[in-house]
Amino acid sequence: MSSTAETYKAFYQRSIDQPDAFWAEQAQLIDWHKPFNRVCNYDKPPFVHWYEGGQTNLCHNAVDRHLKDRANQAALIYVSSETGQEKTYTFAELHVEVQRMAASLKALGVQKGDRVLIYMPMIAEAAFAMLACARIGAIHCVVFGGFASGSLASRIDDATPKVIVSADAGSRGGKVVAYKPLLDEAIRLSRHQPESVLLVDRKLAPMALVAGRDQLWGDLRQQHLDAQVPCEWLDSTAISYTIYTSGTTGKPKGVQRDTGGYAVALAASMKHIFDGRAGETYFSTSDIGWVVGHSYIIYGPLIAGMATIMYEGLPTQGMDGHADGAIWWRLVEKYKVTAMFSAPTAVRVLKKQDPALLKKHDLSSLRALFLAGEPLDEPTARWISDGLGVPIIDNYWQTETGWPLLTVANGVERTPSKFGSPGVPMYGYRVKLLHEATGEELTQPNEKGVVVLEGPTPPGFMQTVWQDDARFVNTYWKSVPGKMVYSTFDWGIRDEDGYYFILGRTDDVINVAGHRLGTREIEESISGHPLVAEVAVVGVADALKGQVAMAFAVLKDASLLQDGAATLKLEGEIMKRVDGDLGAVARPARVRFVTALPKTRSGKLLRRAIQAVCEGRDAGDLTTMDDPAALQQIRDRVSAS
Ligand code: ATP
Ligand code: MG
Repeated sequence: MSSTAETYKAFYQRSIDQPDAFWAEQAQLIDWHKPFNRVCNYDKPPFVHWYEGGQTNLCHNAVDRHLKDRANQAALIYVSSETGQEKTYTFAELHVEVQRMAASLKALGVQKGDRVLIYMPMIAEAAFAMLACARIGAIHCVVFGGFASGSLASRIDDATPKVIVSADAGSRGGKVVAYKPLLDEAIRLSRHQPESVLLVDRKLAPMALVAGRDQLWGDLRQQHLDAQVPCEWLDSTAISYTIYTSGTTGKPKGVQRDTGGYAVALAASMKHIFDGRAGETYFSTSDIGWVVGHSYIIYGPLIAGMATIMYEGLPTQGMDGHADGAIWWRLVEKYKVTAMFSAPTAVRVLKKQDPALLKKHDLSSLRALFLAGEPLDEPTARWISDGLGVPIIDNYWQTETGWPLLTVANGVERTPSKFGSPGVPMYGYRVKLLHEATGEELTQPNEKGVVVLEGPTPPGFMQTVWQDDARFVNTYWKSVPGKMVYSTFDWGIRDEDGYYFILGRTDDVINVAGHRLGTREIEESISGHPLVAEVAVVGVADALKGQVAMAFAVLKDASLLQDGAATLKLEGEIMKRVDGDLGAVARPARVRFVTALPKTRSGKLLRRAIQAVCEGRDAGDLTTMDDPAALQQIRDRVSAS
């Protein structure tokens, strides 16, 4: 916090009115090898170049920079409740491992600008690989380890990597998932062939090596134990990585990010939003396969000089293989975590357990829990807020933005959160609400519109779609006729205090007899029923009405499912509730009860898939699903009705 105690409002206004001065100031938060000579080049909208002329390196800022003051401080804390492994790397040790990895990649021919695809479980070597790429100027493309061969193959073809880094296996809930056969199959399916595959052998599953192509990390590491690989100084605008969006609403887009702008954006967000300080510990429960993992497991905390916890396993699993619903809180206590980042879906998992587990450990170090990825419903927010006794900070963003777009910046000024709202626009983001049909800006409170951004977008924002500028412009910047604005494809409203509320995806709208309804509003109404734990609402084609709403609900007490009379009564109650809240037109045609909903591992409901199943179509490319059984249940329930 600045000593002059600038209000957030003034801070935000400065970022909008004097962006060059504002972002030049933020740029001081990182090290530059060569200073930039232009802060923001917006000569060719919507493309933005940040810090032109400047040279820096993400790995330098995340690792090397800290060696002077905190070489022996924890940097990477690796914890796996799947294997029982728990190991801390200091900044000095991380520096050594990253150089070994960098040297190994170089030995495999990787040069500046080459792509390295990383398909790995949550192990420390995945972090080494990402940082090693950044170090030598290779572009990493991390593909979530939950993907099966088909999805992986299409990403291999898109990224055309020289090298793929992978491992024998991942593990989830004690079940080993062999990665190598999935990878081999993906390479067989893809047109592009990598020159080499670098494999970490965790000894969880047998691996057949392809001669001439496959290399073991254990061997290469041994050959480069004393490697010294200096950081490659990169232009600020050089590509650091690409990452695919989750694919909730369509074909995943290869989001491309720069180097300098991203480093500054993360450093600034660690200070102003997450209020994380050097020497402290940050714990994000996400996965390196998602953008949260890039920004807030690896780069953000390390750039801030914090230790970061990398956790492999479920939130309910102990280190000894037995269940432990308090594992995360044990880690908070043990490593004195000050800032924690998770997703509403994880909290809902915890909510099914005894709330006393939240009180089992000393959580006095924790200052806030940040939640993102999907709408945070009020009951979930209240439950965890009461249980932990720390502020719960919802934050809204996208793979595309790289860091939060709506939240509260408690590092600038302590600002209250409102239940149900992620917060206010973050500095640098020119957030607007537009009328969906006319494209007019909505200026009155509580009007519903599409959340859009006016350019120039701030540092850290995607540069373009990898190798497809046209797709970037056409997909994101041309959805509103006559206006060049970036569409988030999310609905929102803004209240009289300037807080935004996200109402769902513009795709998640159903049309019942000419009325447009947001499925999220119906879900909110249903999840307010005391017996309902979770619900998904989708629009299903109907000959008479165009579409009708179908609801699939998970009950807090699964045993009720066996009681036909009780579920029938409940269905009636739920329908009545929606009637009362939103009107009869929003009432779901059917409410079906299931024990689980199909989701991506990051907790995003696979509404597209549920809808497809309801309409008797193929659920398509749903290879990220952990539990195809959830979709089968829906299929069964639908065919039974
Ligand atoms: P695709 O763009 O490929 O369809 P996706 O949008 O699910 O996939 P992500 O970038 O992982 O991919 O998710 C961003 C989206 O998640 C946002 O656009 C929004 O719909 C939702 N979201 C993220 N955070 C929040 C939040 N705090 N509150 C409400 N919704 C959120
Ligand atoms: Mg999206």
